[in-house]
Order: sequence, then C-alpha cells, then structure tokens
Amino acid sequence: MNNMAIFIDISKCTACRACQVACKNWNQLKAEQTENRGSHENPPDLSAHTWNRIRWVEELKNRKISWSFFNDRCRHCDPPDCKDAADEFVKGAIIKDKTGAVIFTEKIKAIDPDEILSACPYDIPRYDPETRMIYKCNFCFDRINAGLTPACVKACSTGALQFGDKTKMLHLAHDRISQLGKNATLYPGEDYNIFWALPDKALLKHIG
Ligand code: SF4
Ligand code: SF4
Ligand code: SF4
Repeated sequence: MNNMAIFIDISKCTACRACQVACKNWNQLKAEQTENRGSHENPPDLSAHTWNRIRWVEELKNRKISWSFFNDRCRHCDPPDCKDAADEFVKGAIIKDKTGAVIFTEKIKAIDPDEILSACPYDIPRYDPETRMIYKCNFCFDRINAGLTPACVKACSTGALQFGDKTKMLHLAHDRISQLGKNATLYPGEDYNIFWALPDKALLKHIG
C-alpha cells in the first residue's frame, strides 16, 4: 500500500483510550506505573513504552468547562525533520517508507540521541537508555504491509480515527472541516501522513 494516512477527527473522540491500549497490545509495550495528578489524563506523557496518548485540553467557555481530546503521536511528516537530522550521521537510520511511515531502525543507535530528539518539532520520540533505541509510533507499517488497518484505528469505535489512501483521507478531512464551521482547521497540514481536523483553531495554542 502506497502513501496511506490516518485522519483524526477530534470532534468524534470520547477519550475512551482504546487506541492507547491497542497500540500497547500490538507493539507489546509494557504498562507504566502512573499516579493520580488531579486529571483524567493518563499517562501524563509519551514514553519509550507509550506511543500514542489522549491529551485532555480543558477550557472555560461561557462559564462552563469544555474538554477536547487530542490524540498525540508521531505526525509521519513528509519530509521528516528527524530523518534529515539522522541522514547527516548515518544514512538509512530513519526511513520514510512507501506507505508514508517514518520508521526508526537499529542504525539509530550509532547516533547521539539528542540529535534526533531535538530535530522533532513536535517533541514525539523518546529515548530508552536500556536499549539505546529511540521509540515512537511506527504507523503500524507491519500491519499495513500485511493489508491490515493500524491497531489504534481498528480499536476506535466512534470513527475518530480513519485510515486509507492519503488523497481520500484529505478529502474526508476537508469535508469534515467544512461541516464543523469557520473556526475549524486542518492540523498540522497536508505534508504529513497523519493529520487532524480541529473543531476550533484556538486548540492550536494547546497542542503546538
Ligand atoms: S513528528 Fe517528529 S518523529 Fe514524527 S516524523 Fe515528524 S519529525 Fe519525525
Ligand atoms: S499506528 Fe500503530 S504504532 Fe502508531 S499509534 Fe497507532 S497502533 Fe500505535
Ligand atoms: S479509540 Fe477513538 S474515541 Fe477512543 S480515545 Fe482513541 S481516538 Fe478517541
């Protein structure tokens, strides 16, 4: 499958977190001990063992609390800044696959991790000193190449996550933005293989 995409419609997300669990299951990522921080948001951050998570954006609107749920993960940029940084040291350490996936390979271990971490504008990759690897969402390229849907998309029952040909996904995203009204916007843009429909541009200040 070539040039695929995941389209995330924030307005349909209920924060059930089935996508977080499905990602851990498929990729055999270990659970992490967390604690009550006075927020429903859990875990508190991405890590080497947590490749997607729901960020809870809490705002006061018309004297009422409003929640938006942002499914944070690698954007699978096209082109990816992390790959440009890696190429300066070891060619092939980071690959932009034909599916659209940005994949970190074992060759990355030969590069100072800070070079990769600091190159990502979205603060996504996480370094594990135990394995000396850097981890993030891999787009489920193994599933995609076997004709399967990414595990997180498969687990999402509300339609907040959709997967398919990038051109088709962009059409869906722009249609949805038109329905959501003049404050809605595409994030981060079209030069990515993962993109979001934000119901309100005001959310941009929370997600960066
Ligand atoms: S979001 Fe960051 S880690 Fe993911 S492809 Fe883009 S630059 Fe690389
Ligand atoms: S695409 Fe795969 S690796 Fe990426 S967040 Fe979804 S389940 Fe995890
Ligand atoms: S599975 Fe779907 S509805 Fe549930 S948290 Fe993930 S994106 Fe939102």
